[in-house]
Amino acid sequence: MLAGIDLGGTQVRVALARSDGRLFASVKTRTPLLATAQAMVEWAAAEIDRHRGRDKVRSITIAAPGPIDVKRGVLVNPPNLPWQNVPLAAMMARATGAKVQLANDADMAGLGEFHHGAGQGTKNMVYITWSTGVGGGLIIDGKLHRGAHATAGEVGHMIIDPNGPLDNCGQRGCLEAFVSGTALARQTGRPAAELFAEAARGNRSAQMAVEQAARYMGIALISLTNVLDPEMFVIGGGVSRSWGLIQPTMLATLRSSPFIKPARRPRLRRARLGDRAGQVGAVEWARINQ
Ligand SMILES: [Zn+2]
Repeated sequence: MLAGIDLGGTQVRVALARSDGRLFASVKTRTPLLATAQAMVEWAAAEIDRHRGRDKVRSITIAAPGPIDVKRGVLVNPPNLPWQNVPLAAMMARATGAKVQLANDADMAGLGEFHHGAGQGTKNMVYITWSTGVGGGLIIDGKLHRGAHATAGEVGHMIIDPNGPLDNCGQRGCLEAFVSGTALARQTGRPAAELFAEAARGNRSAQMAVEQAARYMGIALISLTNVLDPEMFVIGGGVSRSWGLIQPTMLATLRSSPFIKPARRPRLRRARLGDRAGQVGAVEWARINQ
């Protein structure tokens, strides 16, 4: 049996699956209810124990926000969790007796969309999560590409304009510094959710701010296409809920490149698994690495 845990700043989800990857149980709780990392591990281990019946859970993947040390299975200092330098993989292995992997949450969401969501049937796909931040997961030749230090896919930190605003990461002009929910709130003086709602109601200045963000995202899609030659972009995260507002501009920007001929232009799809993508991908990663 396999388990996938998706650890986020607001929710923790645990999913159990048969060894072929089919999910049969899924539970969640609010992260702030679990005061410490140890409490989270104990909660997840108890849920796994409750649902596994007589079967043994052999392989578990924990999808967690970066930065993480994948090799040592350590959660370093995620911005939206109060835990630092936690050896999460070892703690979970001790609590369950299973083989435990720690993996990047955007990578796992991308893997979930690739195997069971919008990216099914492709071999080369780029997943982008567009929300309060911007992250990504790369599927190359049918496999998750993690790079030399398991940090590949940081789409949000592609530099769009070297003279642009300073990003949290210390670089100037990152995609994230232009289009993330946090950046849009800073630019427009209102929460991003409100900005998208106003744009949907037809407010012209809100629409212009959203269109500009979608144009910057489209520029990033052009660069990613030139570097990686994917068949498809899958866009997830909270902003993808406003698909009708962002898709036309992203697509028009991608089409505006004279270098990317129609024959090699990737398709653009909205993610299908919503906030389940991380746990679905984590189970898949547990299956691949069992
Ligand atoms: Zn950055």
